[in-house]
Amino acid sequence: MEANTPHASTPTESDFVEAKVPYKRRIFCSRNLRLDSCKYVGFDMDYTLALYHEQMEHLQAEMVLEAMVNKLGYPRALLALRYDPQFAIRGLTVDKVHGNVFKMDAHRFVGKVWHGEGPLNRSLRKEIYSNRRVGPADPGLVMVDTLFSLPEISLYCQLVGAFDGGLGESCGRPSYVKLWDDLRRGMDSLHGDGTLKERIMSDLSKYVVRDPELPEALHRFRSSGKRLFVMTNSEPLYTMKVMSYLLDGAYPGYAKWNDYFDYVFTFAKKPRFFEWDEPFYDVDRDTGAVSERPSTAIQKGGMYLGGNLRDFKAFTGMVGDEVLYVGDHIYGDILRSKRYAGWRTAMVIQEMERELSHIQNYADHIGHLQHLEEDRFKLNLQRAAKALDGERDEALLGSIRGLNKRIAGLEQQTAEAFNPYWGMLFRDRSELSAFGNQVESYACIYTSRVSNFRLYSPMWYFRSPRDRMAHELRM
Ligand code: IMP
Ligand code: MG
Repeated sequence: MEANTPHASTPTESDFVEAKVPYKRRIFCSRNLRLDSCKYVGFDMDYTLALYHEQMEHLQAEMVLEAMVNKLGYPRALLALRYDPQFAIRGLTVDKVHGNVFKMDAHRFVGKVWHGEGPLNRSLRKEIYSNRRVGPADPGLVMVDTLFSLPEISLYCQLVGAFDGGLGESCGRPSYVKLWDDLRRGMDSLHGDGTLKERIMSDLSKYVVRDPELPEALHRFRSSGKRLFVMTNSEPLYTMKVMSYLLDGAYPGYAKWNDYFDYVFTFAKKPRFFEWDEPFYDVDRDTGAVSERPSTAIQKGGMYLGGNLRDFKAFTGMVGDEVLYVGDHIYGDILRSKRYAGWRTAMVIQEMERELSHIQNYADHIGHLQHLEEDRFKLNLQRAAKALDGERDEALLGSIRGLNKRIAGLEQQTAEAFNPYWGMLFRDRSELSAFGNQVESYACIYTSRVSNFRLYSPMWYFRSPRDRMAHELRM
């Protein structure tokens, strides 16, 4: 951090309290948020209340490859591909025209690019992406923003590698676009046709993480008078199975999972829920059966399918910023609920615990990097001042080049410790990654799991550390 900060903030009492919360379990704040002003707390289900084990990714990968072989006629050799769960991270972009996957920074400049089994060669990388922002004018780009999509990214690279390497030569090689579209469609149908969920429901403990601290976190919200609701895109029956696995009988006074929630909205079709006027349908809490006619009212304790924000507000009288919505999907859960509903947002980023461990383990490296960058900044100031006087100082330029090299080397070493393919989740070289930028822009607070709320008072005032602009930092 800066040594010459003009208004270094003084630690408050809550800073001391928060220091007791283990770093990996903290809730981080980008926009000040008073929990005591949140009368409603809504939760997404998949990858929010229900986190998934890595087995879920393996299952998706295995099932989609089977579907590509059995339904779309891809070569049987695909079944031998082994999914690598270490490969993909959230926030990567697929370029289906060129068969690449890349990471972008916050300004949409392309960082690392992967093609098939390895990094894209330098000259092609330069030709396609160098020195420009990628954007809507580039056809065929797909940004991956949910954990459900990680297997697709990993498999796409493997498939591109396999077909580049000669697979399918006898029966025709699919274009990169077709390969992605088939994989995407295959995955989409697994989610939609119930086959994936059937497998999950048949062995919930294998796929769904049962967090023993979740019930207490929900109870603490309720006991401070907040109204809780679930709003998920999952179907009623699946929601009931997963939620009862997570919560039934898990905390005194809450026999059934529904006892925690005032309202449950299933198959909510977010983000359409926030913009459209879909009706609500009643769902029977015991059987999951859905009423044929739309509901005429939303009742406390009720379970519904579909629905829309306007009616939800009208029946409850809720006001936008009284609601905190907790979700994992930047677009469907966070951006839309904030933009259209005015809700405050908390993002669950399951992979953060690993990221935070690395940050702790590499704190020395990261601190050293910051010092080197500061030195470079000062030397560059000197260089600029000399250049203004028409001077060119070779020794100074040499020191800057030396520093550039050391910084690049240390940056690479640190990044590889986080993820050997892509580096840090929230950073891309010295910038925020596109994903980090989205989290910072749209999530008021973010954390690794819902149960971390247990470690904070339900009246907690989350304060953002971002109280200064660049011109205030360097005087
Ligand atoms: P939520 O996160 O609780 O709102 O639920 C997400 C739902 O979206 C789950 O039911 C997933 O099965 C479903 N889902 C995730 N990815 C896809 C997809 O690619 N196509 C269709 N449904 C999906
Ligand atoms: Mg979700």
